[in-house]
Amino acid sequence: MASAAQQPARTVIENCAVATVDARDTEYASGHVVVAGQVIESVGEGKAPEGLENVVRRVDGTGHLVTPGLVNTHHHFYQWLTRGLATDHNLFDWLVALYPTWARIDEPMVHAAAQGSLAMMARGGVTTAMDHHYVFPRGTGDLSGAVVRAARETGVRFTLARGSMDRGESDGGLPPDFAVESLEGALTATEETVAAHHDASFGSMTQVAVAPCSPFSVSTDLMRHGAELARRLGVRLHTHGSETVEEEKFCHELFGMGPTDYFESTGWLGEDVWMAHCVHMNDADIAAFARTGTGVAHCPSSNARLAAGIARVPDMLAAGIPVGLGVDGTASNESGELHTELRNALLVNRLGPHREAALTARQALRLGTHGGARVLGREAEIGSLEPGKLADLVLWRMDTLAHASIADPVAALVLGAAAPVTLSLVGGVAVVEDGRLLTVDEDAVARSTRAEARRLARLAAGES
Ligand SMILES: [Zn+2]
Repeated sequence: MASAAQQPARTVIENCAVATVDARDTEYASGHVVVAGQVIESVGEGKAPEGLENVVRRVDGTGHLVTPGLVNTHHHFYQWLTRGLATDHNLFDWLVALYPTWARIDEPMVHAAAQGSLAMMARGGVTTAMDHHYVFPRGTGDLSGAVVRAARETGVRFTLARGSMDRGESDGGLPPDFAVESLEGALTATEETVAAHHDASFGSMTQVAVAPCSPFSVSTDLMRHGAELARRLGVRLHTHGSETVEEEKFCHELFGMGPTDYFESTGWLGEDVWMAHCVHMNDADIAAFARTGTGVAHCPSSNARLAAGIARVPDMLAAGIPVGLGVDGTASNESGELHTELRNALLVNRLGPHREAALTARQALRLGTHGGARVLGREAEIGSLEPGKLADLVLWRMDTLAHASIADPVAALVLGAAAPVTLSLVGGVAVVEDGRLLTVDEDAVARSTRAEARRLARLAAGES
């Protein structure tokens, strides 16, 4: 028999409500989760099994709900430094207003912004984050490295979507020419980023996707070659798609077809692709996504903030499309939190044609956990509380003024105020305890992001 010293370190959480988000939506009114090393060993009703060895931590979860950790599938960390600008614009006007400022970012700014974005998400129950970074001004340092470093410091699992733009204004695109890379430069840098940071192993903390920004900022050659590159390297593909009516018009004028047909013609539909927004999709577009297994990052707050419209999430789910949730960049969603997106996804979709049948609270929780894991291609590892999966989980406090009188803990989490996080584990390692990050100093991050935001504003205004 193995001695206690040879056993993996165990954490036992018990006496809490459990929402596993497994295939059957199994829940326990009072149950337990046992973590052994980086994985979940057991989940079930009542107390944890007796006789467990090497239990290093025992958590009484009375008054709490435990769920899988939240998975964010779309974000732009650098925008943490440009929150609260152009607050009354639609997407294209907002982009044109902000591109000149964004083009002045450098490595210290990107690192601080990533720390701010990651810290905000982690303290709100995100255990897997992603950053779609597509602004790479020349000579400004290792921006991808800075973001990966910030994710390691924060302790969350991370996907870096290495973005790019090569269609400047002079080529009919939306970004100014000084904000774009060359086709060759973007492809070479993307391949180097995959080589430097992508880890495909079980429990990987860092993965990289190939992620040209959008049809209106990227050449058709970069879309095509980007898709070929991702498939040669065996990594996923990500971009923005069908976000606004203006984008749809742009695609018809420039390519003679709508966004989904354009994506299909450039190799951008498939099981290894996920796309942000997908607001303006007709029945044929939804059928094409379902046929090819293309995933969607639904970003309800950003879509509302930029008056983009309501994505047809109920129709996507009915068609079998993988759908996750995204914060989107904090220049179009100043809160930068994912747990409030559970509620916003439900509310926004109930304003659509399906009304009260649009989404249930449990479907909203599924979007933010298992749905996100599917979209990132990691459903075998994360997204539900099941034995053998990684111990990425959140213990939400439900016994305070905000939630104590709400009968159903899942409804309380989704429909109630943002719930405090008592404990968040990533691969069995505590990242948040009693609402505070253990990994980085929140106050120091707040100070550095404020300083870097001011420096960026000064540079953008032409001051040194
Ligand atoms: Zn975005």
